[in-house]
Amino acid sequence: TREEITYFGAGPALLPTDVLQNAAQALLDFNNTGLGIAEHSHRSELATNVINEAKADLATYLDIPTDEYEILFMQGGGSGEFSATVYNLVGAWVTRRKQDLLRQWGTSADEKGLAVEEKLEAELRKAVEEDLKLDYIVTGGWSQKAHAEAVRLLGPERVNLVADARTINGGKFGKIPDEKDWTLSRDPALVYYCDNETVDGVEFPAFPASLAPRADGSGPIVVADMSSNILSRRIPVRNFSIIFFGAQKNLGSTGITVAVIKKSLLPPTTPQPEPALLRKLGLPIGPIVLSYETIAKNNSLYNTLSIFDVYIAGQVLKKLLRTFPDKVDGQQAVAEKKASLIYSALEAHPDVYRIVPDASARSRMNICFRVTKGSDVDASEKAFLKEGTARGLTGLKGHRSVGGIRASNYNSIPLEGAEKLAAFITEFAKA
Ligand code: PMP
Repeated sequence: TREEITYFGAGPALLPTDVLQNAAQALLDFNNTGLGIAEHSHRSELATNVINEAKADLATYLDIPTDEYEILFMQGGGSGEFSATVYNLVGAWVTRRKQDLLRQWGTSADEKGLAVEEKLEAELRKAVEEDLKLDYIVTGGWSQKAHAEAVRLLGPERVNLVADARTINGGKFGKIPDEKDWTLSRDPALVYYCDNETVDGVEFPAFPASLAPRADGSGPIVVADMSSNILSRRIPVRNFSIIFFGAQKNLGSTGITVAVIKKSLLPPTTPQPEPALLRKLGLPIGPIVLSYETIAKNNSLYNTLSIFDVYIAGQVLKKLLRTFPDKVDGQQAVAEKKASLIYSALEAHPDVYRIVPDASARSRMNICFRVTKGSDVDASEKAFLKEGTARGLTGLKGHRSVGGIRASNYNSIPLEGAEKLAAFITEFAKA
């Protein structure tokens, strides 16, 4: 039964039972309307309220300054955002270059004649050819996929691999390359990294200092994938241009993706270029459903959004706000405590367990290790998983691409769940 197991799956992940109980009721009859939340129109006032409340609660919990940032509910998952960030930020880069050129020439966009138009196109084509770069820091399987998507959309010559963690760790992920070895481009359209690598168990210990904004507020356009550690620690929001995350780990159910975007990247400051201009510049034109401008203009209701998924996310946020008066800081303390319980149990038996990532980059959310006891690792890991399951500790199998064991220690794992796992790790080692 649900009460008997602690599920450590990497996503979709465990959700709080009381949230699911309320959601089950809401599916049948939402607020005594006689109709379920998944049946009500996404254009109804009720749906708008669900969206606006979830946005407000997310902003409160994470201290997102809503005068400077827009919160969008998107579809297409984290993978959709790999593409969305490219389309939208390449567009924003072109707009900035265009605005710079017009400023230099002292011509406003409205009064430009045909000659200016042609000159502008020629200059922009040159800029795209010579200067357009996107920077990726690859520290695990998910940033690797995001990097690959940028290469697919724009070609390898426009994508700069700032650092590849495999080169400093024997061909495997597990460490974060030293920032002094990063090769950042000049004025890239974005600098991308994944804050927590779900498959490899690698988490940035803090915001990378070399990407911090300068004293005058200017700085690189930083994009971070926080799919698997959002809501688990404080974020220096103003250091980012875009933070995105799929809901299905710490926020809610699969089906919605959140993008928190700096308003200065949206109209009126930065309108996206006309498709005709992108076509002339040989740049890709993104699907309308991945356009931040479009989703923002429609308060996330450009097309049919799963209001049920937004409702669940909203309930999870309300529960977090009820549980932690000091908001994300409270949850952060619990997350650290749980992770340290599990890592300590593993470290106490180095003859039996090998923690995969380097101690400097260990994830608090996805704890990856091998069971090296005995000569047959494969058999030892099978035994570990089997005995764990017998005790109600499930979902511990590592990602198929890397094998081993992975304990996903998301917010819904209670402290007692982490204690049970730590106790099992200890007993298995001694047996
Ligand atoms: N980024 C990270 C860090 C992830 O963990 C995942 C999925 N586990 C993704 C992106 C991809 O998300 P999706 O499956 O929603 O496309």
